[in-house]
Amino acid sequence: MKNTLPRLAVHKFSSCDGCQLAFLNAGEALLTLSRRAEIIHFSEAGWENPLAKVDIAFVEGSISTPKDLERIKAVRESANTLVTIGACATAGGLQALRNGVKQFADWVGDVYASPEYIQSLPESRPISAHVKVDLELWGCPVTGKQVLDALGDLLNGITPVNSSEPVCSECKRSGHVCVLVSKKEPCMGPVTRTGCGALCPAFGRACYGCFGPAEQANTASLAKQFEHMGLSAKDISRRFLFITSATQPFSDTGHGYLEQEDV
Ligand code: SF4
Ligand code: SF4
Repeated sequence: MKNTLPRLAVHKFSSCDGCQLAFLNAGEALLTLSRRAEIIHFSEAGWENPLAKVDIAFVEGSISTPKDLERIKAVRESANTLVTIGACATAGGLQALRNGVKQFADWVGDVYASPEYIQSLPESRPISAHVKVDLELWGCPVTGKQVLDALGDLLNGITPVNSSEPVCSECKRSGHVCVLVSKKEPCMGPVTRTGCGALCPAFGRACYGCFGPAEQANTASLAKQFEHMGLSAKDISRRFLFITSATQPFSDTGHGYLEQEDV
């Protein structure tokens, strides 16, 4: 009998594989999933069929090389719905730290013994910079629950809800002590979207923005607060130019302070 289950693929681009592992670590929930959908391509788990037509394609990683660029267009063509998973795919990831750096060509020569073999695009960009994306799941890494909840909604014909309120709201609801106020830590929670359960503040640590910008994030105001707390322009730029540096308004605010440091 022909299998009529929805077909899924998981693709990797420039990334560390952490988001695919979060998917794999979902454990028993994956067994349940196998009764509701057929996995066609997922190299990390052993299924290889990258060009097959699928209903839903999950994409991890940013677009950093000419080959990435060619491949993401083929993946888009192959899928009815394309979902990006993790900070690399949604906001460039750590790879995007090289964007806008004038000396990039020199660095390649400093790092690699044979730079002529390195084929990089001038910038590392999120998937949405190159093809249409239907849903973005943020975080570094995403959680298995986050991915499976979104997938469950999609399989039931429901549009998944992607919260864009700030981590601060989740802290308040959970009763965590504010690390910005009580410990004078440069926490990015006021401008970062929630979805992680305010994980870092729950352990008394400052959020570093891995879920990307919240809606209407007032990054200029938070950067001023960091100034009052005594952070240098370089340190402020580093708070905004980290894991989600290729997304706005983090990019503009971070590069603004980086330029001050360059003067
Ligand atoms: S978002 Fe983080 S965990 Fe996921 S692939 Fe990128 S670096 Fe790895
Ligand atoms: S608190 Fe911030 S850095 Fe920590 S997991 Fe959540 S979004 Fe990421």
